[in-house]
Amino acid sequence: MAFQVEVRSPIRLADFAEFAHLVAAVQALQTEAQPLLPKLADRTIWMVNSTPTGGGVAEMLPTMVTLLRDLGLRVEWVVIDTEERGFFDVTKRIHNLLHGQGDPRLVPADRELFESVNRQNAAFLRARARDGDVLIVHDPQPLPLAGMLQEELDLTTIWRCHIGLDDETPATRAAWEFLHPYARVYEHAVFSAPEYIPHYLSSHATIIYPAIDPLSFKNRELGLHHTVGVLANSGLTVAPGPLVTPPYERLAERLGPDGRFHPANLTGDFGLLTRPIVTQISRWDGLKGFEPLLDAFARYKQRLLQGGWSDHPRHRIRQEIVRLVLAGPDPESIQDDPEGQGVLNALVERYRSLDPLIQESIAIVTLPMQSPEENAYMVNALQRASSIVVQNSLREGFGLTIAEAMWKRVPILSNRQACGPRQQVRDGVDGRLIADPTSARELADTLDAMLADEAGRQVWARNAQRRVYNRFLVFAQLCEWLRLFAQLPRLAA
Ligand code: UDP
Repeated sequence: MAFQVEVRSPIRLADFAEFAHLVAAVQALQTEAQPLLPKLADRTIWMVNSTPTGGGVAEMLPTMVTLLRDLGLRVEWVVIDTEERGFFDVTKRIHNLLHGQGDPRLVPADRELFESVNRQNAAFLRARARDGDVLIVHDPQPLPLAGMLQEELDLTTIWRCHIGLDDETPATRAAWEFLHPYARVYEHAVFSAPEYIPHYLSSHATIIYPAIDPLSFKNRELGLHHTVGVLANSGLTVAPGPLVTPPYERLAERLGPDGRFHPANLTGDFGLLTRPIVTQISRWDGLKGFEPLLDAFARYKQRLLQGGWSDHPRHRIRQEIVRLVLAGPDPESIQDDPEGQGVLNALVERYRSLDPLIQESIAIVTLPMQSPEENAYMVNALQRASSIVVQNSLREGFGLTIAEAMWKRVPILSNRQACGPRQQVRDGVDGRLIADPTSARELADTLDAMLADEAGRQVWARNAQRRVYNRFLVFAQLCEWLRLFAQLPRLAA
């Protein structure tokens, strides 16, 4: 049965407004909200999804709910639930199909289960929602709710779909056909990219991008000492001097030539504080493109060692000392993710086959996940220590790691093939987008050109941060939601 999630985050808009560079964004949000407040005064906005923790939606909802409440709106978060595990098997299959993967056969029994579980959960909302309220349903799991509740209640209904594929395949067609009867009853739909909108929703769909919270542990400003402290406390660098804070309980680990992981600074310092650093941080997922990136960097170094050095003295030094960091979650925390372990194992094997000279220039790093706060700080500090952040995904729904790095004024190297990166990065403006993430030559050449172009990197870095400020911070996201509310007939009246 569904349940309501208590959101008790202490963060307020006023906390953001204490930062000079966020004042205008907070004010813009407040201004946007003013005319809407009287229209929404007697209405509750019901956010509904299928999990209180884990995954991007559950990550984003607490900040959204808190800030909308702080603006003066009444917002509640409800999670649907069931004892019938088969329900989540069906919804997982639908999820995968929308990403173009899996067996496209969905049978009448799948539909029956999908509907019956949603009907049980609809009872929870029917007992609480009132005529005039706004229902925002996230992702496909609770999709049938709107149709079921509309039988008795006069609601404004919005479906927020966070997933999709920028290609039509038998798999995506099967999933969209299956969802059609439930999706078509919604007044409006919201997607993360225009490419993800199915044809039957295209007349009443809006794009709202995912967004980052600039005060979260992952994205907040870190001073010089704090950055060095996090890197040293987590074992990612050798402490350059005495530190106020003790080492973290769990350290980041680096792959050694023996194929085993050791505390990252055990065999000396990798050079995060001084060398040009190229970084990718992602889950160990085959579609994240770690292996082609490793290959491209290894070949790049090989090419240099065979005499391909630049004639420009400063750039030649960069080529000599630049290093690659590939980081992702500690395998212990992904034990229930055999695919992730497999991807990491393949990288380990590839790394072990490299020339020792080249191994030295590449760090495959696992970040402990036991403390979400420490993990977020490690990601934050690693991104800040990078000259270039790569997101070499072959497919990518959005790619929050890109917005995170752009916000920190780090230029991005990604590609046009994946849909998410091209929503965020403008080629030659915020970084570079290549055509093919599996092309070692294109990756190496673009990386080298970016490293050589010191002035360009500074321009891309500044543009990247401004773009995140305008489009991918939580304030911009909430402004989009408020604009959408304002245009819906019942709320505009
Ligand atoms: N991430 C993390 N620790 C890791 C690897 C990734 O905190 O070891 C974070 C990363 O900073 C980002 C999120 O996981 O916030 C990944 O989101 P993204 O949209 O890039 O990809 P997804 O994993 O959702 O496919």
